[in-house]
Amino acid sequence: MNQFDHALEQLARATAVQSFDPALIRKISSPEREVRVTIPVVMDDGATRLFEGYRVQHSSVRGPYKGGIRFHADADIHEVRALAFWMTLKCAVANIPMGGGKGGITVDPKELSAGELERLSRGFVRMLYPVLGPKVDVPAPDVNTTPEIMSWMVDEYATLTGDTTGAAFTGKPLGKGGSEGRALATGLGGFYVFEALKDKLGVPQSSRVVVQGMGNVGGNAAKLFQQHGHTVIAISDSKSAIVKDDGLDIAAVEAYKKEHKTLVGFPGARSISNEELLELSCDVLIPAALEHQVTHVNATRIQAKVILELANGPTTPEADDVLFANGVVVVPDILANAGGVVVSSFEWEQNLKNEHWTEQVVFEKLQTLISTEANTVWERAHALHTDLRRAAFIVALERLGVH
Ligand code: NAD
Repeated sequence: MNQFDHALEQLARATAVQSFDPALIRKISSPEREVRVTIPVVMDDGATRLFEGYRVQHSSVRGPYKGGIRFHADADIHEVRALAFWMTLKCAVANIPMGGGKGGITVDPKELSAGELERLSRGFVRMLYPVLGPKVDVPAPDVNTTPEIMSWMVDEYATLTGDTTGAAFTGKPLGKGGSEGRALATGLGGFYVFEALKDKLGVPQSSRVVVQGMGNVGGNAAKLFQQHGHTVIAISDSKSAIVKDDGLDIAAVEAYKKEHKTLVGFPGARSISNEELLELSCDVLIPAALEHQVTHVNATRIQAKVILELANGPTTPEADDVLFANGVVVVPDILANAGGVVVSSFEWEQNLKNEHWTEQVVFEKLQTLISTEANTVWERAHALHTDLRRAAFIVALERLGVH
């Protein structure tokens, strides 16, 4: 099953609980537009290398396409199509006036110099700018794409089109039209969703938390949970994972990783595999890396009470069934990680209105919005006697259907 099959299977499961107009379901099952580009980049040695890139514009029913751009060696059209589909549903669950899109380049950015990375980022925009723009399609960062990459992209877009709003890309650095709070937004949004549902989830006031992935989303989420009195017992990156039963100091773990380029050897912690990390006994498991991490292979061994999906698509449909049967509550990605796109939409709005909101205003708006929607999804799941993923899909489909 590729990721898009996985997404369509989730859709089928939701529509088995509540039926919808078949025309809506057919429409939502196919992206409105897919663009595949070949980007020539002059490398530092003078040779030209070709990179494959994608932009999938899934749905503009509720507003301009919105979604990140991923730089990853495994990025392909199926993955980008699935991520675009989930963006459409996520923006609808979050109730923001945005559609869904996603982009990707098949590249391991760690193999490129800074100059090559900039030329690749600008090249992506040169190939795609006719189908991007503040009222058309507004990309953002995702795995391996940073505020600096967004600033190259928005700059290239301005050069090519004369746009002065800066609203064609979000996730920009603060000095380049970025929003206060954007860097923290996905982790913080996930934390607000957890806080809104905490009493209903039946987890202790001070929970034991495991985080897979230590990038923008996982690193910030781990710090937030720690700051609010929870104990982060384990964390990982793509090559290493560590566990410490009495809790990790995440800022110290980040400093250690910066110096040693690995988590292995962090004082007082034991090294484990990424597979073992997922199966640790804990209250909350936070996948914050890539898709397909909890599958039919390991679902029966998951000991967490709650899975808070900050990555996109970390749990397969088969695993969902096992987890539901075992009483593990999965807070789905299209709700749990919506904080990023919510604050991206705030950034877009500020750019268009030429405003700059304080961090406090951004966080208050985020918390109000995402807590409301978390409760909407929870109540719908209870009313329909179903899981939170099916309920979130149903809430999204209802909102897509009225447009
Ligand atoms: P990032 O590039 O900043 O970090 C990714 C992290 O995952 C890194 O620590 C990396 O080492 C780790 N990782 C990669 N492969 C791994 C593996 N096989 N096992 C364990 N760890 C692994 O990316 P990010 O922006 O933090 O995104 C992480 C996830 O969150 C992705 O699924 C992304 O789509 C999703 N997401 C991101 C945002 C956002 O605002 N950045 C918003 C919503 C969802």
